[in-house]
Amino acid sequence: MQSVHLLRLSPLLAALLCARATGAQEYLDLTYPFDEQTIYWPTSRPFQLDKVWKGTTEAGFYYEANNYSAAEHGGTHLDAPSHFAPGRWSVDEVPLSSLIGPAVVVDISARAAGNPDAVLDPADLLAWQKKHGPLPQGAILLVRTGWGRFWPDRKRYLGTDRPGDVAGLRFPGISAEAAQWIASSGRVRAVGIDTASLDPGRSKDFRAHVILYEKNIPGLENVAHLDRLPPVGATLIALPMKIRGGSGAPCRIIARLPGK
Ligand SMILES: [Zn+2]
Repeated sequence: MQSVHLLRLSPLLAALLCARATGAQEYLDLTYPFDEQTIYWPTSRPFQLDKVWKGTTEAGFYYEANNYSAAEHGGTHLDAPSHFAPGRWSVDEVPLSSLIGPAVVVDISARAAGNPDAVLDPADLLAWQKKHGPLPQGAILLVRTGWGRFWPDRKRYLGTDRPGDVAGLRFPGISAEAAQWIASSGRVRAVGIDTASLDPGRSKDFRAHVILYEKNIPGLENVAHLDRLPPVGATLIALPMKIRGGSGAPCRIIARLPGK
């Protein structure tokens, strides 16, 4: 009897294991969960989940549901160009071609390790190109500062854990010159970073935001696990909540890894 069971079960088990092997390892989730730990800008309303019901109803069936609320800009999210550039795309207007594309990771984590004011410079982009070749057309360019290792510790990730304390913000970002280089390359459709903002925390004028968004190049912020992505070869898929007229939105970001 035992052998009959094995025969009946083994094809199913094999299929399940096969699905696990291809499905589970092929895609990488670059999204932080939304909960009470999720980091928001010091002036923004954090994520809140309010229980509507959880348990057996009077009618006898089990039911659970919640309400949620949060600012657009917090956790892993998309910045629509309209966030800093009037008349440019809002979240619902950003085309899928700007949200799906070849992922490029430019790593400045070694330089940023001891310096929260470190920024991506044109020299970093030139060095990347020298090593890996020209940026692919339609690239989604991701800046790895290494700051993801501090998540969800607000004090270390943002430089401050005090609500409203924008003066205390300290983390690496993208220089105005690098933003200009990216915007004029004609090859980059979106830019992402593993910090809370494209501009460095100490920025007061948000030049990288302005330069990129004026060119309808949206931003991805608080992108998770950039240390697990190769510098080139993965495909990024970033799908924000389609808030009509939104200046930003929570975003599920995944990468399809190369050669899988
Ligand atoms: Zn934002």
